[in-house]
Amino acid sequence: MADPQNVVILGSTGSIGRSALSVLEHDNRRRLRALGLAARSSWEELIEQARRHQPRWVALTDPEAAARVDGQLRGTSVELLAGRDGLVRMVQEPAVDKVVSAIVGAAGLESTWAALEAGKAVALANKETLVVGGPLITELARERNAPLLPVDSEHSAIFQCLQSGQPREVRRVILTSSGGPFRGKSRRELEGVTPEQALRHPTWRMGPKITIDSATLMNKALEVIEARWLFDLRPEQIEVVVHPESIVHSMVEFVDGSVVAQLSPPDMRLPIQYALTYPDRLDCPSPRFDLTRSLALHFHPPDRETFPCLDLGFEVMRRGGTAGAALNAANEAAVQRFLDGQIAFLDIPRACRAALDHHEFDPRPSLATLDAVDRRARQEVARWAP
Ligand code: NAD
Ligand code: MG
Repeated sequence: MADPQNVVILGSTGSIGRSALSVLEHDNRRRLRALGLAARSSWEELIEQARRHQPRWVALTDPEAAARVDGQLRGTSVELLAGRDGLVRMVQEPAVDKVVSAIVGAAGLESTWAALEAGKAVALANKETLVVGGPLITELARERNAPLLPVDSEHSAIFQCLQSGQPREVRRVILTSSGGPFRGKSRRELEGVTPEQALRHPTWRMGPKITIDSATLMNKALEVIEARWLFDLRPEQIEVVVHPESIVHSMVEFVDGSVVAQLSPPDMRLPIQYALTYPDRLDCPSPRFDLTRSLALHFHPPDRETFPCLDLGFEVMRRGGTAGAALNAANEAAVQRFLDGQIAFLDIPRACRAALDHHEFDPRPSLATLDAVDRRARQEVARWAP
């Protein structure tokens, strides 16, 4: 990686986007440079980021926000691209080498698709893209020779562990889960939990949607599906274990019984950086392991009764087809209704179950079919009543 690599960050104002910019700032050898930054509507922060990083383009999908930025950029060399088309154009520019896909939800699929279609290397945080369209996305990446590198900490860990053996030597992968803020609670105790309680994650600071997903364990469910497509695994090769310390980010067991794990303090800058510099490793701004103090690591099986979202994920992984699109869209809509105070915490898996059961299953969907299933599942959850 001799020349500086030109990076576009989709979702630069979010939790992953900011961490990605922190990685670029720390890179004093200037191997990575921000060429484009994109967000939905947070135009003030985007302008601030543009001042610091001097990208060639900024993009906002929200037209009103884009209109406000327009005036602010006059006289600078930064060009504004507006709307969803703007994102697609930006990632496909010939000068772009790598794209950090860090928009939240299925809204990230279109621009991730465009980046892969243009053969760009994609550092993928947006797991929903693989949940919705895993087989189509991975096939596109193969066809275009576009590297698809994991940013999700568990998948980065698995990716790193897999380098100790051959694909055919893998027996299983074990994804770790912190258990979220409600680990150890009973269903009764979860009946009245508020969005504020669910938004308090014990080990990670993240955007609101993934934080709620971590509380329901839907995040782990989505990650199980993500792992299946990213690493071309069979469903029975994927397991989940609860590990409250979030130090072991995941493990791979090989056929000889050897289990390889990746450990580091919880900080997303490490997996983001590795996805951007792979196969090289560079000094990283994330904190280092301190073994001068004693450290205990715990592992125990997940409580599948209290957190039914996890089994929804395993079921959807086995079914494939349109099931991922239905589950993902239903979950996005249900999380929003929970945050808006319209449904209870325990209603999230119920609403997802209903949308999944009512959707018209197609085993080999096109992108257009996935889009239609997504829309219908959202409508279903909007109407859903406990
Ligand atoms: P966030 O809510 O903090 O940020 C989301 C970003 O996407 C913002 O910049 C926002 O402007 C942009 N955005 C939202 N909707 C958009 C749209 N329709 N069009 C264009 N831009 C849009 O979210 P986050 O926590 O950074 O998560 C981003 C993605 O990364 C999610 O898919 C999440 O599952 C994944 N992820 C996050 C973490 C983490 O630590 N935060 C860890 C692993 C994976
Ligand atoms: Mg994760």
